[in-house]
Amino acid sequence: MSSKKTLIAANWKMHKTVEEAVAFVGELRDAVGSPDDREVLLTPPFTALWAVRVAVSEAGFSLGAQNCHWEPQGAFTGEISPPMLKDVGCGYVLVGHSERRHIFGETDAMAQKKVAAVFREGMTPVLCIGETLEEREAGKTFDVVARQLQEGLGAVSKSDFPRVVVAYEPVWAIGTGKTATPAQAQEVHAFIRERLASHTDKSVANEVRILYGGSVKPDNVDRLMAEPDIDGLLVGGASLKASSFSRIVRYQ
Ligand code: PGA
Repeated sequence: MSSKKTLIAANWKMHKTVEEAVAFVGELRDAVGSPDDREVLLTPPFTALWAVRVAVSEAGFSLGAQNCHWEPQGAFTGEISPPMLKDVGCGYVLVGHSERRHIFGETDAMAQKKVAAVFREGMTPVLCIGETLEEREAGKTFDVVARQLQEGLGAVSKSDFPRVVVAYEPVWAIGTGKTATPAQAQEVHAFIRERLASHTDKSVANEVRILYGGSVKPDNVDRLMAEPDIDGLLVGGASLKASSFSRIVRYQ
């Protein structure tokens, strides 16, 4: 049996002031305690990272950022580097979220550089992949996911591979209220696991946590988490209130 822990991650996107972020951590801790069979990851906006880091670590939660540049430093106005995120207490960085890809034009090649740069700092990348509605309807889901996976993880060393986290987020399910059915999600997760096994081997692929994201809510979380290849969740809208996110963390 694998020793991996379920990972329940909150992606706050461009929401929350420092004060709201700090208050959330306290409310969530009061609601869920420090569960030892599941890891809780919060990814606040950059501006709140420093303020929440102590509260997050006291609560036993993990801290992550939503994006980074791949260079360690330099003339990149407006960017934040992996060493800066490590310095501020992050253990994780989301890479290639569909909003980064579709609104800001990020490519698979950029995702590859970011994944490698995050590992270089000893942090864990959460590589986000997923097809658009158009791609799904054209029967291209598996091709798209395979390409994003292959390119995004193309520079990961053998020793780092078991620490990779992949988030499957069908773009048509993000922020739309349309969740993939548990069976649709499981089908793609199983495919991702098979692809990972072909890049490395079966035992390493079994260690990799594959999260589902896209309109996860308190009322669909239990059914999603019952699927064998869903090892956690990446939650946007429903992570903004401690009352709903705590129910998701306490999935059964
Ligand atoms: P959502 O967002 O839960 O609001 O659909 C998920 C995400 O974008 O990570």
